[in-house]
Amino acid sequence: MPRINNALIGIDLFGDLKKKNASDAKIIKQELSMFFKTYSHSFDANEHLFNPLEQTLSQLGQRILGGTGAVNSILQHAVSNSTRSILTKNKKDFQRVVPSIQDVFEDRPREQAILNQHIKENVRLIKNVDNRMVDDITTIVNNGIQRGDKQSDIIKSLQPILKRTNNGYKLIARDQGNKLYASITEARAKVNNWQFYEWSTSKDVRVRDFSNSNGYSDHARLDGKIFRFDDPPRTVFKGKRSGERNNPGQDIRCRCVAIILFEPPSAFKKSSGGSYRLLKDEK
Ligand SMILES: [Zn+2]
Repeated sequence: MPRINNALIGIDLFGDLKKKNASDAKIIKQELSMFFKTYSHSFDANEHLFNPLEQTLSQLGQRILGGTGAVNSILQHAVSNSTRSILTKNKKDFQRVVPSIQDVFEDRPREQAILNQHIKENVRLIKNVDNRMVDDITTIVNNGIQRGDKQSDIIKSLQPILKRTNNGYKLIARDQGNKLYASITEARAKVNNWQFYEWSTSKDVRVRDFSNSNGYSDHARLDGKIFRFDDPPRTVFKGKRSGERNNPGQDIRCRCVAIILFEPPSAFKKSSGGSYRLLKDEK
């Protein structure tokens, strides 16, 4: 299987979320401007502001978080689109080597469940990021108004929160996208009884090894080695997840991919170090 360029995975979801971030910024500005316009005359009497401010912030939260309405369906739509595009990319990557590859994701409940689970988990993660944003905005605006800060200063102090939210979106889109790509690869390989793969890192400076991960993990060491999907190598050596074994793309923020090897299982033998080797490569 040729090299896989996974740099673009999740980029469309991040694009959609970035737009959401820009529109949330507008909502925040709108709601706060309205509040300031209506209540600027009573700025000396904090107690009279309490209710209208509370109303403004709850309205702002509702518009961003959406309760059950349009925001949810936009989110669902963006994540579904991205899921579909990752599925298509994975199929094309396989087709470059096996043109006749079956689409194992059609009408197969187990494989469909992988996609549905991914969509559900992504929406949940994005909502967590949004909830945190709304909480922090509420705190900052409340404090700013209590201190008597200017409207423009309050809006400016919200910028880092919006930026952090955007970074959270980027991480979710990439990390979850890579995880999905890995799960799809594994599912396709399993259906076709291709059990072995070559571990392939992204070959750049961000590939983790013991020195840049403080001894937690090392993927650089795995590059080019052969493993079996149901016998993945240990990737975590310290901390709460120590001892965890992962296939490429499953570890947190892992950008590695599995390059499927199409030889039959009998063509591989386990080496003492835990990886496998192709018997025809002996000699
Ligand atoms: Zn990795």
